[in-house]
Amino acid sequence: MKYVLVTGGVVSGLGKGVTASSIGLLLKACGLRVTSIKIDPYLNTDAGTMSPFEHGEVFVLDDGGEVDLDLGNYERFLDIKLTRDNNITTGKIYQSVLDNERKGDYLGKTVQVVPHITDAIQKWIERVALIPVDGKEGPADVCVIELGGTIGDIESMPFIEALGQFSYHVGPGNFCLIHVSLVPVLNVVGEQKTKPTQHSVRGLRGLGLIPNILACRSTKALEDNVKAKLSQFCHVAVENILTLYDVPNIWHIPLLLRDQKAHEAILKELNLIGVAREPDLQEWTARTRVYDILHEPVRIAMVGKYTGLSDSYLSVLKALLHASVACRRKLVVEWVAAGDLEDVTAKEAPDVYKNAWDLLKGSDGVLVPGGFGDRGVQGKILAAKYARENKVPFLGVCLGMQIAVIEFARSVLGLHDANSTEFDPETSHPCVIFMPEGSKTHMGGTMRVGSRRTYFKVPNCKSAKLYNNDGFVDERHRHRYEVNPNMVQQFENAGLSFVGRDETGQRMEIIELPSHPYFVGAQFHPEFKSRPGKPSALFLGLIAAASGQLDAVPQNYGHASKLLPNGIGNGKPTVKTYQNGNAIKSSNGSLNGVYSNGNDNGNGAHH
Ligand code: GLN
Repeated sequence: MKYVLVTGGVVSGLGKGVTASSIGLLLKACGLRVTSIKIDPYLNTDAGTMSPFEHGEVFVLDDGGEVDLDLGNYERFLDIKLTRDNNITTGKIYQSVLDNERKGDYLGKTVQVVPHITDAIQKWIERVALIPVDGKEGPADVCVIELGGTIGDIESMPFIEALGQFSYHVGPGNFCLIHVSLVPVLNVVGEQKTKPTQHSVRGLRGLGLIPNILACRSTKALEDNVKAKLSQFCHVAVENILTLYDVPNIWHIPLLLRDQKAHEAILKELNLIGVAREPDLQEWTARTRVYDILHEPVRIAMVGKYTGLSDSYLSVLKALLHASVACRRKLVVEWVAAGDLEDVTAKEAPDVYKNAWDLLKGSDGVLVPGGFGDRGVQGKILAAKYARENKVPFLGVCLGMQIAVIEFARSVLGLHDANSTEFDPETSHPCVIFMPEGSKTHMGGTMRVGSRRTYFKVPNCKSAKLYNNDGFVDERHRHRYEVNPNMVQQFENAGLSFVGRDETGQRMEIIELPSHPYFVGAQFHPEFKSRPGKPSALFLGLIAAASGQLDAVPQNYGHASKLLPNGIGNGKPTVKTYQNGNAIKSSNGSLNGVYSNGNDNGNGAHH
């Protein structure tokens, strides 16, 4: 097993996760099998309890692991399926050491950060790196490890020490350290400043880690004299200094790295020259070019609770993007704060209310994403009602599906106080109820989380078709509440169809309104399994319906080269070389800020 460690310096938010995923993709394109580990030095055992507002979305894995959103980037870029153990946190490591201490595993010794915590970290990495994640048997060739946080953080110290020991232990030729840093440009003189990178490399060396490659974020490509200076002061060969300058969207990063021959530098450090082939990124390149030239917009109203931070819905945005690229539309996400659609806002802030409704009405499709808690529920219900009554394409995910059911119960069945018991435990018409898989009394672990199977009950419904008429589908869940099975007949009699259910037939998984062009809700989160080039079926349905293409959903949307409009290219690797920072511009001409970790709060189309 070979290891690539990616660390970050100077400031956070440099896009370390995207860089690490892109490196993984590039190595995969060289014919290697790649897995990845994300280290989060916080004390939480997992991301499940962390606020999406503070930390971005909670990403869910097949095995029910609730993990950092960076694991989503790895899964999407590398098209792999990770396990909960691929996300290491300080909390998990300490818990395992403390459990062992209680079992008496340390034979009366004083249990210390060095060597007990540091040993536990190394053992964890070695064990998890061997787990196959690409559907093939046996371990991968390379494991990309991303260390969260910035060099110098108190929290990451035990990990740095462990990784320093680890690099020594696996030996040269098996370990490559890539340090992602920032080269700021002072506006007045436009000079690229190397000092912050020098300092951060010095910090890294002081802690026992020696960088093999520097990946410098900057607005433009680094000038030769700047590279020479960095090389001299940081003791890194000039050809091992890469620039991650601003590009139209993150799909360019693997291409940018390839053009700078990052793979050669990495393969050399890992003694893999001759084993790996030249990178084959034809399909990726073709798809990126399609993305770059999209111009006809598809407007999707995202009616959510958090509208200030697009990271809170990162996978949903990615799934919308994958589907939009497949339908050759430029995704425009209209953020509508659910609360702004409510009557109280009409009274308190009429302008805000009007603006929210204008955005909703100006959209080609409506998406109500998942969520917890009752804030904004009424606004989401109004959005679902608007979409249903006006035949606007609608997709409700998890809470979004529950919302659609509540709305139907209230407006169509006339059950005015129908509600989820999550929001009103006393409702006389509980159409969404608490349905734990295990014990009803035990408070912990009541979430139904991870991969579960859905069977299609109605073979010729829209969602079954979108899922290729496969009969069943495995998707990821994260919820406690579900549609009340005792009310299903009543709903079906009134025209709301429960087309997908679990194996018992008791848990409702997919709803559809056959009389509507596209009104679909899923109890699961299809966004977690969407990939560039393999868009999630229900998102594809939404975008196709919103852009008038549902009848002609391309059967072969998985192949970017087939998606290319005539005359644009045939997928040959003729990507423009990135020189002097003059990358291909996106159709809106923007080159700024899009290679962030998603906090741009723009229209979301960059992601
Ligand atoms: N709050 C709802 C439940 O627990 C929906 C959860 C979600 O949207 N992820 O069932």
